[in-house]
Amino acid sequence: MIIVNDLTKRYNKLLANDHISLTVNSGELTVLLGPNGAGKSTLIKSICGLLRFKGSVTINGFDNHTADAKRILGYVPEMPALYPMLTVAEHLEFIAKAYRLEHWQEYADQLLTRFDLKDKVNKLGKELSKGMQQKVSVCCAVLPRPKVLIFDEPLVGLDPHGIREIKALIASLKQEGCALIVSTHMIDSVEEDWDTTCIMKSGKIAALCHRSSLGSGKTLEDTYFSIVEQEDQEVPK
Ligand code: ADP
Repeated sequence: MIIVNDLTKRYNKLLANDHISLTVNSGELTVLLGPNGAGKSTLIKSICGLLRFKGSVTINGFDNHTADAKRILGYVPEMPALYPMLTVAEHLEFIAKAYRLEHWQEYADQLLTRFDLKDKVNKLGKELSKGMQQKVSVCCAVLPRPKVLIFDEPLVGLDPHGIREIKALIASLKQEGCALIVSTHMIDSVEEDWDTTCIMKSGKIAALCHRSSLGSGKTLEDTYFSIVEQEDQEVPK
């Protein structure tokens, strides 16, 4: 479970996240939508403990800066950041050692198979395409079986097979009780699995929409445009 309480983040004078509060329960997928510059990546990096901010974030009750929180938190950044001189296999081994995992090889093997990486295990990070790097980044995030997983634009640059597998992976992690946040511009990619959608605009939550409260016949895309393109109206709190 993720609890974001009154999170405010400034980059000097720029207010990138303005008093954000958000709860993501275990077994639920919260989708972060919003135009470029709305503050989605800043919120994600703050939740992951990568930025200083005002307010608080807890991960299953642990402050997000603690080792207890980091142990159960997985993060797939928008830009994969692999080690250029480690092979794919070494990335997974490194994660397994860092998280002190036992009996991880079988799961690693399943993930590599799932993402078509079996024949790439001996390739170095720097030798992989952007899409392959993204897949390795996902495998590394998932290997420790985190209870909370945050994906920032996970589908960008992936081939159709990769997109299908990430979508299936997200659905199965949700089934297993993971609390998930996915930031995406591909609204239709999450239509099937979302529980809550947080639409951000100018650093604020412009709308928090639960699946059950979506008007009949309305899609997530309709809701998104009705919120984001209402130019002159005040952003609701
Ligand atoms: P999104 O992910 O929704 O596109 P971001 O969180 O990346 O939005 O950015 C929110 C705002 O913060 C934007 O105005 C962006 O220019 C600004 N911003 C993001 N990162 C930095 C940074 N490191 N330094 C200064 N401003 C930043």
